[in-house]
Amino acid sequence: MSILNSLFGNDGDGDAKSHRYSNVKIHPAVDGGVKPGASNFNGGTLTCHCATDPVKVRVGAQTAHNHVCGCSKCWKPEGALFAQIAVVPRDKVEVIAHGEKLHIVDPDATIQRHACRECGVHMFGRIENTAHPFYGLDFVHTELSKEEGWSAPEFAAFVSSIIETGTPPARMDEIRGRLRELGLEPYDCLSPPLMDVIAAHVARSKAA
Ligand SMILES: [Zn+2]
Ligand SMILES: [Zn+2]
Repeated sequence: MSILNSLFGNDGDGDAKSHRYSNVKIHPAVDGGVKPGASNFNGGTLTCHCATDPVKVRVGAQTAHNHVCGCSKCWKPEGALFAQIAVVPRDKVEVIAHGEKLHIVDPDATIQRHACRECGVHMFGRIENTAHPFYGLDFVHTELSKEEGWSAPEFAAFVSSIIETGTPPARMDEIRGRLRELGLEPYDCLSPPLMDVIAAHVARSKAA
């Protein structure tokens, strides 16, 4: 790296403008740049943060619709503004160790988040309402796995919601700026394709 580059904060893989917001932290899995998924990837094992007797969940397939999420319900690692979360068919999710430590964070929530009672990490989120458009899909945090090749995050959901958990509104320009730099288009709900899935499901249930 040249002196000029180091003075102006250019890390050499783009112009300085493209890294204007690189000091803004989103989530540890994307702060260094979004890693692409591997096409031949078949899943891995999620492990909670307990030093002893961790809960382990086997995910037997590649994930889809990976994204960062600003809602107040998704589990976030310490200090992160966003969660990172993806979906996988529920029949591919299996608790393989210390399931006795799991509890449902909020049994009334649409997504029932099964969390470790001791460390608080959410191991999977499940929808039990068979009429829900996403019924059949579980929500998982792939960062809990050592394996590499999980589908890459594609967008940022519920961005404005981070204000509800204490982010000053004045920071939103730099946060949305950083998300765009990372290629994670910010939305204040889900992405347009997922909103379309929900709307089409509503239309079908009305027609039925
Ligand atoms: Zn734990
Ligand atoms: Zn969320």
